[in-house]
Amino acid sequence: MWPSGTLRKACCNNGFFHHSITISGCPVACDGAAHLKENAHVVDLNLFLRMDDKTVLVTGGASGIGYAVAQFLSAVGAAVALVDLDEERGKIKTAAIRSRGGRARFYPCDVSDAIRVEETVNAVVRDFQRIDGLVNCAGVIMRADVLGLEEKDWDRTIDVALKGVFLVSKYVIGQMKAAGGGKIVNIGSGWSLKGGQKAFSYCAAKAGVLNMTRAMAIDHGKDNIAINCVCPGDIDTPLLEIQSRQLGIDTDEFYGSQNDVRPLKGPGRPEDVAHAVFFYLSDLSRWITGSSLVVDGGGLA
Ligand code: NAP
Repeated sequence: MWPSGTLRKACCNNGFFHHSITISGCPVACDGAAHLKENAHVVDLNLFLRMDDKTVLVTGGASGIGYAVAQFLSAVGAAVALVDLDEERGKIKTAAIRSRGGRARFYPCDVSDAIRVEETVNAVVRDFQRIDGLVNCAGVIMRADVLGLEEKDWDRTIDVALKGVFLVSKYVIGQMKAAGGGKIVNIGSGWSLKGGQKAFSYCAAKAGVLNMTRAMAIDHGKDNIAINCVCPGDIDTPLLEIQSRQLGIDTDEFYGSQNDVRPLKGPGRPEDVAHAVFFYLSDLSRWITGSSLVVDGGGLA
């Protein structure tokens, strides 16, 4: 089970309500008796920040945001199952995490293929015994207007974003329910919340991911499964470069324009999104479900 995350009452001889946070014990010198002071507490961050006993499955884990999520989770002790299309890249990224002491395995899988998804989830459970967290991060983008988009590209965008989240969640939720609970984070977009130029298929898919998150959260709260959505703005990953190509804009020019379109200079970094994902996977968000967190340098402000 996910740790309860209760505050550990302890510490501090200064007589004031103690708001400091420490990783292990009191951050200031204090004598033993004073530790019992009623109105003082220290939060044991290990309860919230370590995931040593957790296994998290990350789709799209071999690139960009998904890989940053896998790296961060591994750094806080979680075992990570990277699920992605490209076997060669997946193995390289997994080996990189392992070389830093992490527990990681790669599973080649198209998240829109029901049979492969079921096999993959079963393989992850076989290898790690459990799945405590799921990050639905795999995604594709096709920048075109209605007249310019091919039907197959519409199908692909919707299949990866919507069917992929449905299928992976379907098999993982079955496992989580049997194990007593878990956490799911779906990766939406700023375009879950507003429209964008030449992005209508992606906007449709990502708006769907956000509302799907809310509906799934309603259904599975009773199973002790919290389901939330992180909505990134433009993040420096291969997906951003793909967009500049699809729009026929010089990549340097595209990146250069990112500085002026939001309050905080951009684009964002993959780890900016990973930190928000971690918040939702950790017990810091114990009583949060069906919500979304925008990570966009203020672009939607
Ligand atoms: P990325 O670097 O291209 O990573 C996406 C990964 O998903 C790639 O490894 C891709 O493999 C994989 N993938 C695609 N289709 C798949 C499928 N059917 N099954 C399994 N894996 C599949 O892009 P990213 O920027 O990290 O994007 C991650 C998520 O963030 C996506 O959902 C994206 O929509 C969302 N997002 C990104 C941004 C941004 O600005 N970067 C902004 C908002 C939201 P291939 O490379 O082989 O296709």
